[in-house]
Amino acid sequence: MAAMIEREAVIVGGGIGGLAAAVALRRAGWEVRVFERAPEFGEIGAGLSLWPNALRALARLGLHEQVLALGTVEAHGGVRDRRGRWLSRTSAGEVERRFGHPLVIVRRADLLRVLREALPDDALCAGTEITRVPDAPLVVAADGAASTLRERLYPGHRPRYAGYTAWRMLTPFPALTEGAVTWGHGERFGFTPMTDGLVYCFATASVPPGSFADDEYAELLRRFAGWPQPIPALLAATAPQAVLRHDITDLPPLPSFVHGRVAFLGDAAHAMTPNLGQGACQALEDAVTLAACVSEQGIPAGLARYDRLRRRHTQAVVRRSRRLGRIGQLSWPPAVYARDTMARLVPAEMTLRAMTPILNWGM
Ligand SMILES: Cc1cc2nc3c(=O)[nH]c(=O)nc-3n(C[C@H](O)[C@H](O)[C@H](O)COP(=O)(O)OP(=O)(O)OC[C@H]3O[C@@H](n4cnc5c(N)ncnc54)[C@H](O)[C@@H]3O)c2cc1C
Repeated sequence: MAAMIEREAVIVGGGIGGLAAAVALRRAGWEVRVFERAPEFGEIGAGLSLWPNALRALARLGLHEQVLALGTVEAHGGVRDRRGRWLSRTSAGEVERRFGHPLVIVRRADLLRVLREALPDDALCAGTEITRVPDAPLVVAADGAASTLRERLYPGHRPRYAGYTAWRMLTPFPALTEGAVTWGHGERFGFTPMTDGLVYCFATASVPPGSFADDEYAELLRRFAGWPQPIPALLAATAPQAVLRHDITDLPPLPSFVHGRVAFLGDAAHAMTPNLGQGACQALEDAVTLAACVSEQGIPAGLARYDRLRRRHTQAVVRRSRRLGRIGQLSWPPAVYARDTMARLVPAEMTLRAMTPILNWGM
């Protein structure tokens, strides 16, 4: 059976999902070529949380130890209210004890480098934009939330605005040992320590789509400089040019992750809001699952199995992440009060247990 499978794949998009798919397929004996529109493989970007499900997927690629060595294990994290009082707190020890791996924060660029270095140079073609379905036995559409291939094969299926925008930055601030997200009224600010004395910070605000400021750093100061410490200190230590801003979107459910010999993967298949920190984690799961399905069952049957294994699961994560975002962005004072009270009453252990259907993938 295996000898009859034509093991050649073209991968469109060299982000986390596309590169991980290339590594997974190559490990299963496929010939792969990855086409990336940007002039180079890599990304600026900020930090990324990798949960135990992502580390299990990376372990299947033989890369989790390298990623662990580059990342920072989150020692403690939790949620605070607008006055800085803890609503809930979890420790990395609890995540690791329950799920066998910790929660790790990495720089996006580091994760992309590890994936890229696991591939031979001749498999990577940068500076090539793909506009039609390539001619190959298997095509992996990993071209991100604004996927060109999705627009061709499932026209009209586009990401929708989630109602809030996000800022992200890496800030030099060696003193910090603990991460937290602070919930306000229609605004949130999160920070988590990383390696090399850097802190990954993010903030959100409910605003109309596309309402970008001339000076995003000034906008952050205007909104968050009066928030509880260490937020003002982190903002003071942030270089204005380090601030990135994106409107947050997610993708309404696709009818299938497969179209003929094309498999959709990562944000092209299921772009989600960042509230659960799962977009890249799910892309890594997709990559490992796709390679296993098509290698074991051949292309048509393997793709059908890939769709069965991944579509419902990831679409449930998209919905859950959207719901969590709605809760985090509440702004009506009585609703904020009810939300914060609930968060204080629910034990952190229970919150973590509720994440089991996501974090136990591959266990
Ligand atoms: C604010 C924010 C915070 C986040 N935080 C987390 C987190 O903590 N943890 C987590 O797991 N996830 C997080 N995510 C989600 C995560 O970033 C994405 O899910 C992940 O990057 C998706 O990877 P991808 O490879 O599918 O898509 P992308 O990273 O978008 O890669 C797609 C690639 O395809 C290329 N491309 C596009 N079109 C073409 C074309 N026509 N031809 C050739 N190449 C093309 C692009 O240049 C790009 O390199 C966050 C997202 C946001 C917005």
